[in-house]
Amino acid sequence: VPDAPSIRYAGGQLDRAGDLRKDPAWVTEMRARSDARVVPLWRDKNLVLGMPPEGEPSHDTPCAARYPVDAQSGILALDGAFPWAFLGLDGEAPIFTVDVSDASDAQLAPLTANGAEFVDLRKVGMLVSASDAAVLAYARALMGWHRRHRYCGACGAATEPCYAGHMRRCTNPDCHIEHFPRTDPAVIMLVEHRPANGAPRRVLLAHNHRSPVRAFSTLAGFVEPGETLEEAVAREVWEETGVRVSDVTYQGAQPWPFPSSLMIGFRAVAESDAIAIDREELDDAQWFTAAEVAQFGEWGDETARFQLPRRDSIARTLIDAWVAEVLRD
Ligand SMILES: [Zn+2]
Repeated sequence: VPDAPSIRYAGGQLDRAGDLRKDPAWVTEMRARSDARVVPLWRDKNLVLGMPPEGEPSHDTPCAARYPVDAQSGILALDGAFPWAFLGLDGEAPIFTVDVSDASDAQLAPLTANGAEFVDLRKVGMLVSASDAAVLAYARALMGWHRRHRYCGACGAATEPCYAGHMRRCTNPDCHIEHFPRTDPAVIMLVEHRPANGAPRRVLLAHNHRSPVRAFSTLAGFVEPGETLEEAVAREVWEETGVRVSDVTYQGAQPWPFPSSLMIGFRAVAESDAIAIDREELDDAQWFTAAEVAQFGEWGDETARFQLPRRDSIARTLIDAWVAEVLRD
């Protein structure tokens, strides 16, 4: 099982203070602390310092921009003018996020005056530190949920944030339902075939329509109501490739805030190797030996015959771990 820190966007270090954040007086006290910091978000992009110019290698490690709470004026006041949430304590220091998507250019200008930029997490996830990657993913997932849940799904009335941004309550007094931040479970699985004749072990990798033409990855899919994680693994592999699997074992999980998934990683063993592709989902699926996968190029390498998945994905973690294990044996 890979260590949690080796999975990007996992391994967050903040103390979420789940009980304390329900107390408005405590949250007000935290907002007023001189060491309180805000990590801003704008239209799903995170504010990052030290980004290298497009197409150039980075000399320094970019980092999440963390600004003081601006209680006097401006858009970092956490006064309700813009949606905000408490993320957790970094040691003693409270860390907040604010979604400034609706701010004017003039309001935004001070945030980027020092060279910070709003960047898509997929562009910066592998450049920042592991703990910054976890904070940026957490902020993006939480504020994305707020933006998509401004109305009650039961009665249609407006909802309002509670618990420092960790719950929304319906404002209709006859309804008053509590809505909690949503995470959608998805399974992602490395399917292995172990030939009975002693031939090398092989992994099932697939290319889907949405990926670059040479990129091959593990199979994945959302968990449906009424099934377990293991059942979802077996169903998805069967539906997409016609392969039956057993021995489904957990490998690790990855927060995946694009927009709100949790990728739950497994290995599974194929009972046979005949492939029947579901053409609506996949262009291609093939068995590869570890030696073959070791020859794959990086994501985006147009000269490579086959490309690995992106380095920030748990698919890549699962594949790298399997290749290393098979080549070591
Ligand atoms: Zn309602």
